[in-house]
Amino acid sequence: MNIIPIFLPHAGCKRRCVFCNEYSATGLGRIPTKDEIFNEVDRYLAFFADRENVELAFYGGTFTGLPEWLMHDYLDLAMEIIKSGKAKAIRFSTSPEEITQRKVEILSDYPISLVEIGAQSFDEEVLRLANRPHGVKEIYTACELLKEAKIPFGIHLMTGLPGDSEEKNIRSAVEVVKLKASTCRIHPTVVLKNSTLESMYHEGKYKPQDLGEALNILWKMYVIISLGGVKINRIGICLYGDEVNNVVAGPYHPAMGELVKNWVALEILRVLKKRRGDKIILKVDEGTKQFFTGHKKCVLNRAKEEGMEVIFERASAPELNLRELMKIVLVESLDELFRSEVSGILLAN
Ligand code: SF4
Repeated sequence: MNIIPIFLPHAGCKRRCVFCNEYSATGLGRIPTKDEIFNEVDRYLAFFADRENVELAFYGGTFTGLPEWLMHDYLDLAMEIIKSGKAKAIRFSTSPEEITQRKVEILSDYPISLVEIGAQSFDEEVLRLANRPHGVKEIYTACELLKEAKIPFGIHLMTGLPGDSEEKNIRSAVEVVKLKASTCRIHPTVVLKNSTLESMYHEGKYKPQDLGEALNILWKMYVIISLGGVKINRIGICLYGDEVNNVVAGPYHPAMGELVKNWVALEILRVLKKRRGDKIILKVDEGTKQFFTGHKKCVLNRAKEEGMEVIFERASAPELNLRELMKIVLVESLDELFRSEVSGILLAN
C-alpha cells in the first residue's frame, strides 16, 4: 500500500497539545490549496512503482474537527482523485472527541480505509498535562462508534509525555489490543521547536526520555501490540527532510522501529544465554538471521560485549519459535501488575 500524505497543519484542532507544533513537524506554514493537493498527488504517483494500491491520507490536524462543510470539501476532493483512478481509499488522523454519531454517518458515505485516532495515552493525568482535548472515555466512545459503522481504526500512542511512566505506557498498549484496533503507531515524545513543551524544557519543567529509556519501554509495547494481533504502522515520529532540525531534544532516531526490533532480539539472546550458556548456536533461515544480526550488526556487537558468541547455522525451517520467545521475554520483564493480564491477552491471540 502506498500512501500520499496531505498535511493540513492544525486544521480542525480546538486546542494546541503541549508536544505538538505541526508547522515545525511538516515545514508547512498553512493548509494546501486544492491545486496544490492535486499537484502533490501527481508528484507522489511519479515515485510509486505500484500505482494500483494508493490511498490518500489527511494528516497533521483533527480531520473530523473541521467545520462540516470543509470536511465535505476535502472528502469530495478525495473522491475526485479516486474517481480519476489515482487512489483507492481515504484515511486520516483525528482526535477521539471529534468522532460522533453524526460524523460517522457522514464518513460512511466515503471509502474510508482507516481512521487514525490520536489517543496518545489511556491515563487521564497524562492527557490533562498534555492539554489533550479529550479524556479516556472519549477514546473508547470513538472506537465503539467506528466499530459499529465497520470503519477500521488505528490508535496513536506516545511515550515520555509529562506525568508519564512505564506502567502507564504498558497499560495503553494493553488497551490497544483489547480494543482490537487494526493498527497502531507509537512515538516517543520529542521536544519540537515552538511547542509548549519546548518552553517547559528550557524552564526545567520537562525532562525528555533519553534513547535508552524510550527503547526500554518501546520494545515491551511493540511485543504486546504486535503479538496481540494489531499491526504496528510505525514507531517513532515521522519527520521529513529538514524538519528533523526542528527537534530540540528527546529520543529521535530515523530508524526507531529497527532499534526496537534489535532490542527484542537482544532480550531473546539474553534468555538463550541463560538456557544454553555463552556459546549460542542458532539454526535459522535468512530472515531470522537478520533479526538476530540487527541494524549495522548492532545486536551481534552488543551480544559480544555481554560475553555471548552467536553462531548461525543455515536451516530451511528455523528451530526457534520467535513468537513464543518474545512472549517469554516480555512476561519475564513485566511488573507483577501486568503479568497475568498480558499473558491472558496474548494467549487469546
Ligand atoms: S496533537 Fe493533534 S489535536 Fe493536538 S494540536 Fe497536534 S494535530 Fe492538533
